[in-house]
Amino acid sequence: MFYLDSRQIYRSSELDSLEWLLHGFGTRFADVPALFSQLATVKQVHSSTCVVAEGRSGVLGEADALLEDRPGAVVAVKTADCIPVLLADERTRTVAAIHAGWRGTAARIVERAVAAMGARFGSAPAGLHAAIGPGIGKCCYEVGPEVAAQFGLQGRAHLDLAEENRRQLLNTGIPIDHVCVSWLCTMCGPGFHSFRRDRESAGRMYSFIGISAVH
Ligand SMILES: [Zn+2]
Repeated sequence: MFYLDSRQIYRSSELDSLEWLLHGFGTRFADVPALFSQLATVKQVHSSTCVVAEGRSGVLGEADALLEDRPGAVVAVKTADCIPVLLADERTRTVAAIHAGWRGTAARIVERAVAAMGARFGSAPAGLHAAIGPGIGKCCYEVGPEVAAQFGLQGRAHLDLAEENRRQLLNTGIPIDHVCVSWLCTMCGPGFHSFRRDRESAGRMYSFIGISAVH
């Protein structure tokens, strides 16, 4: 279940149950960078590249997923219609933030991130929890035949990026009750930046996940 907190940040009550974890999906009214003295991001390029932050902050090169295992560290992705996905491993207390637009989704970036957490931190899918945040919904996301074909659809079609990412996460072996989806649409829902709606004037919203310094 998702709810809006007093800072105008959506949170997953499932992820809230991990007491060592910090997380949230900022709306257009949230000032997420002001919340943290150190925050790691990447220059997002619609790839399936994953970077391990290793306690660094600032912009850590070109990638679309950030992994972290250091207490006190927070990683974030920025979106306006693309899907933000947050992963937390209850066993190794490690995290990932992922930016999944249609290109990243077609490149299976969430599966890559789960594999990278396994390779770097020893995470197993059975211990992972995932939250899929607000992004453009199937209601508003009509795409042309070339993009639709990437997802096995013919002609112009309405794409459900959140569902595609949910399916990929389940494919990795994450338990179905560990994957929650906001189903909030950034284009027709209130309080979001939307690139499709606002074009060049659209801002970006921060989705973040981190490990508490003390736990
Ligand atoms: Zn919509």
